[in-house]
Amino acid sequence: MVIYLDHNATTPLDNSIGRIINTYSRFLYGNPSSPYQIGKISRAEVEKSREKVAKIINCRKNEVYFTSGGTESNNLAIQGLLSYFQKFGKTNTKKRIITTEIEHLSVLNIFKELSKGKNKDYDVVFLPVDKSGFVKLKEFKYSIDSNTVLISVMLANNEVGSIQPIKEMVKIAKSKNKNIVFHCDAVQGLGKVRIDVKDLGIDMLSISSHKIYGPKGVGALYIKKGTGIYPLFFGGHQEKGIRPGTENLVSIIAFGYACKLARENLERNIAVMTALKEFLKERLIRELSDIINIRINSPEKNCLPNTLNVCFKGIDSEILISLLSKQSVYVSSGSACTSDSLEPSHVLLAMGIPESLAHNAIRFSLGMENKKRDLIRTVKKIKKIILENNLNFNKTYNYSNKDINGTKNK
Ligand code: PLP
Repeated sequence: MVIYLDHNATTPLDNSIGRIINTYSRFLYGNPSSPYQIGKISRAEVEKSREKVAKIINCRKNEVYFTSGGTESNNLAIQGLLSYFQKFGKTNTKKRIITTEIEHLSVLNIFKELSKGKNKDYDVVFLPVDKSGFVKLKEFKYSIDSNTVLISVMLANNEVGSIQPIKEMVKIAKSKNKNIVFHCDAVQGLGKVRIDVKDLGIDMLSISSHKIYGPKGVGALYIKKGTGIYPLFFGGHQEKGIRPGTENLVSIIAFGYACKLARENLERNIAVMTALKEFLKERLIRELSDIINIRINSPEKNCLPNTLNVCFKGIDSEILISLLSKQSVYVSSGSACTSDSLEPSHVLLAMGIPESLAHNAIRFSLGMENKKRDLIRTVKKIKKIILENNLNFNKTYNYSNKDINGTKNK
């Protein structure tokens, strides 16, 4: 039996959503833009779904724009805003744009791209984080100057789970200049943290369906009314011309239902995942501390309820992942987007974790179908793998714990 512990990469489809997809795919084939009945029914379903998405983040229905997922939402938000400024901006001064060093690659690589070239149009700031993965608010405050036009900070980190104080950051930013546009990548926060865009005070927010037990290839961008966005590509009038193309009808409907389920079950899901994570952490420490040094990389507080990032010191995570996978236990070393690269995690490096140790990181990201018995079996399998393959030969070395908060002996 498979034990899937990689829900931050993607979640399995919820059974009820699978049934919705089957039913709608068979019967609802109309183009939402068509004038006859099947088209009108499709349009009505898209709009019902928009309402469900709006409800989970507490915005108005007409502020939700469907996209193909988190990556596209992030690109539309950041690049769409900057090209709007280029088209309609009044001044030609070099603009400052701010992000963090621990963003998902779908944000980080846009900012890296914008920081390249001889005639840089942008003054790009990558904010550092502390050793628990949080942006330092003082540095954040000082990074904002009068030319700052855009700030993009993720709500929750996909690798370690740190949740940024977005509301406080927005307050700081807007008190310096109320015209700064604040974008937030909330792909990992959705369904695990209560999200209220009005309360946060943000201007744009990205979400994705496949992280909340919905289908892949669909997501949304919240754009606060009045925020200037220029489309990334051109076509018909769909999504008010901001994101043209025939709607991904059935996936959009399914995404709406996934949002409804996530909203209705939020408190319960948080409680279940928190308890599971605590159980896993305690088991790992109890069962493995004698044979291996363990370092917990996820913060104790203000962390996603399902995410536990752990270093098994001296054990190459790729080896452990591969041996676990042979026994049908699926975990990852970090972001799914970088899992085929042998580079150490940029998030762990930004947190000050030495490169050699960053190669020892395993991310457990739990989901609603996981049970305690899955976690007990997982820990047993890890122990067996370590002992049978003599992976803990390094344990005899005397580690310098100078910059490592080992959990052993705690
Ligand atoms: N942002 C974060 C924080 C993510 O974790 C991911 C996916 O892992 C994305 C964006 C990209 O979302 P999608 O896979 O829907 O393109």
